[in-house]
Amino acid sequence: MAATPLPFNPELATHAWLATMGEEATARSNAYFEGGYLIDFAGTALSILVAGLILVLGWARGVRTWLEKTVKWFPLVALGVAFVVNLLSTIITFPFTYYVGFVREHRYDLSTQTFAEWFGEQAMGAGIGLVVGSIFLAILYVIIRAAKNTWWIWGSLVTIAFVAVFSMVAPVFISPLFNTYTPMEQGELRDSILAMAQANGVPADNVYVYDRSRQTNSISANVSGMFGTTRISLADTLLERASPEATRAVMGHEIGHYVLGHTYSIMVMMTGMIVIMFAIVHFGFRALAKNERWGIRDIADPAGLPLIMVIIAVVGLFTAPIQRNIIYFHEQQADMFGLNAAREPDGFAEAAVLLSEYRKMEPSALEEWFFYDHPSGWNRVHNSMVWKAHEIQAGRLPPSPGGPPEGWRPDFVVAREAASAPPAAEPSPAAPSD
Ligand SMILES: [Zn+2]
Repeated sequence: MAATPLPFNPELATHAWLATMGEEATARSNAYFEGGYLIDFAGTALSILVAGLILVLGWARGVRTWLEKTVKWFPLVALGVAFVVNLLSTIITFPFTYYVGFVREHRYDLSTQTFAEWFGEQAMGAGIGLVVGSIFLAILYVIIRAAKNTWWIWGSLVTIAFVAVFSMVAPVFISPLFNTYTPMEQGELRDSILAMAQANGVPADNVYVYDRSRQTNSISANVSGMFGTTRISLADTLLERASPEATRAVMGHEIGHYVLGHTYSIMVMMTGMIVIMFAIVHFGFRALAKNERWGIRDIADPAGLPLIMVIIAVVGLFTAPIQRNIIYFHEQQADMFGLNAAREPDGFAEAAVLLSEYRKMEPSALEEWFFYDHPSGWNRVHNSMVWKAHEIQAGRLPPSPGGPPEGWRPDFVVAREAASAPPAAEPSPAAPSD
């Protein structure tokens, strides 16, 4: 059979979707996302600087010596040192956290929080991180002390087990501290989402809506938890801002993560990364801290924690793009699964444009490889348009043109234009006030 030509050109259709952002919003989104690259590097540099400072000034060593005299029991000494070192870094890096998490988010109109709301959540998150992180580090130190030269193998296994347990309890105990999760409201949209979920083997009661608008207006959805606690959550902002078609398209993507078992495969891949990371820490530490430099006896001495943090931050510079590519690989799979499950190519293109409020639409190939953990807007829209063209050609979708619906523009662009437009004339006092 001779191939019939595609009903429309996917490249032109992609271009038409991207053009709905307009120049100003595109420039804004590019500036926000590209600024993130610098923030990424600055954050790592700051971690290295702060941990290095704590190391050179001998603070960790001082705390360790004092705890050895007072509490004497090793696990408690390690716990105490881990707690103090983490607390100090959290406090010293606070101005940076404040700028990135609050000032900058407001500058780009992405946050809906007052300073008090933001600070409250920040303090709660830091508190949980401090407690959980310190307990984890104390356990790791007990392993290092017991296994000495092979700790990086046992330590990796325990780390991944710790992560698994944490991901399992997080949706039940941690997430509800920050957001309220409710089962999705009855209606046609819910029914169609549940039908899609059930058709793909997802337990039906696992679709929740959470009040993301408490933190930001940006749209989102996610799959969280493990084993019995796995669930799909939709942001209220998605329901409010996106069309039902786009919401269904996003849910198709999330169901893809669920069905393809991504939580587990990401964990397996991350285990490999952790083993490599810990091996580098082990051998790097030996080379750097020999002859009791900085007063560190050996790797089992909690006084060396800041040095471990420095090594991890430096190695992280090189492993971060690999980690992002591991996530990207899964996101790409979920995208394709979602297109086939939801069959809403225009809805998925719409969602990709709405997500481009904070993610650069059209990066270079190298930029996307290095910095992206999700496919770019261009890639997502393009995949949708290619899929749509081929489905129409095969007669599985009714013919319709490529590109956005006539006159469609993303809501955040419309809202900004309305805000910057000259004020409308005062309504006349006689006008009815309904
Ligand atoms: Zn995803």
